Amino acid sequence: MRLILFFGALLGHIYCRETFVGDQVLEITPRDEDQVAKLGELEAEEDLQLDFWRPPTVSGATAHVRVPRDSVQTVKVFLESQGIAYSIMIQDVQVLLDQEKEEMLFNQRRERNGHFNFGAYHSLEEITQEMDHLVAEYPHLVSQVLIGDSFENRPMNVLKFSTGGDKPAIWLDAGIHAREWVTQATALWTANKIASDYGNDPSLTAILDTLDIFLLPVTNPDGYVFSQTKNRMWRKTRSQVPGSICVGVDPNRNWDAGFGGPGASKNPCSDSYHGPSANSEVEVKSIVDFIKTHGNFQAFLTLHSYSQLLMFPYGYKCTQSDNFDELNEVAQKAANSLTRVHGTRYKVGPICSVIYQASGGSIDWAHDFGIKYSFAFELRDTGRYGFLLPANQILPTAEETWLGLKTIMEHVRDHPY
Ligand SMILES: [Zn+2]
Repeated sequence: MRLILFFGALLGHIYCRETFVGDQVLEITPRDEDQVAKLGELEAEEDLQLDFWRPPTVSGATAHVRVPRDSVQTVKVFLESQGIAYSIMIQDVQVLLDQEKEEMLFNQRRERNGHFNFGAYHSLEEITQEMDHLVAEYPHLVSQVLIGDSFENRPMNVLKFSTGGDKPAIWLDAGIHAREWVTQATALWTANKIASDYGNDPSLTAILDTLDIFLLPVTNPDGYVFSQTKNRMWRKTRSQVPGSICVGVDPNRNWDAGFGGPGASKNPCSDSYHGPSANSEVEVKSIVDFIKTHGNFQAFLTLHSYSQLLMFPYGYKCTQSDNFDELNEVAQKAANSLTRVHGTRYKVGPICSVIYQASGGSIDWAHDFGIKYSFAFELRDTGRYGFLLPANQILPTAEETWLGLKTIMEHVRDHPY
């Protein structure tokens, strides 16, 4: 154990992996609008290098923020002086990261002779191999479609599940935000589930007899690799922004839906930077082009973490979509089936009311493009571990999420439009 930790630290140094020793994640609960405004001021203090995992929104709603070691005292003094209530959610971020790294190394050694472990976090290379393996194992059902290359030239392969012919289709993606690791892991488990349940689960079989499913497990491959090798907290793409020292764009603020509006930043150094123009990110553009060319997507589903939410349009505006009642009903039903698996509770509603106004998001684009059934999941948890969800929660997360996804897919199957 000691040796592994030592080795991990050594490797970290060789590759200049960013460390988070002494960083804390605080849960902050503003009790009135004045305190919300104060938190906004705190957020604007660039010197503090704060990483809001969940930004402050309205009074009574908790915010989560990772505070670098050097800013911990300043932030606590500020909160206390303002009388703003907070508690420590994660005592030392690096402790969780060391555990996560150790588990990954352990798993790699064990897997060398055995089967792929869906209950572990994997490198992009391992995920790619498992996707190839799935295609080899189910050649009559699963194939891969290359829809483009990332900024750093990594292939973006979509798994296509099809029983033949060109059917109307369902889109499902994960990992557009790099650090949301449970989503890429859930997507890969889901791919295996779909392949192995076809012909065994009558409902899924009926879905695939009516619809094709396109699943992109790693939407932001450059960011994912960077989050595994350099900075676990990385969220954005890795594109170079001309004239800026900061790298990357928030790919879920980059879609052509209220682009540049509220809830996105024009500062290239911000984690929610919307990019120089809509579709500037090749990862976003590749999906948009693929969906437009295909021409018959009936549903657009995307996986994020964390917060346990099932959301639908809109995010860029706070008015109801034309399909509000139906989408709300489907989402509610999906959340209920999800809850029945392990008791995990989800909140349901439009992005703008469930979290905050956020522009340039994928499901808003999909919905405005004409894909009625557009939903975004925020998977486990609600903040105990946040983005650093332990690997032993991957399988239960994937299992329950699948029931939610399947409920939506059944509705899409039974309500062609
Ligand atoms: Zn996300």
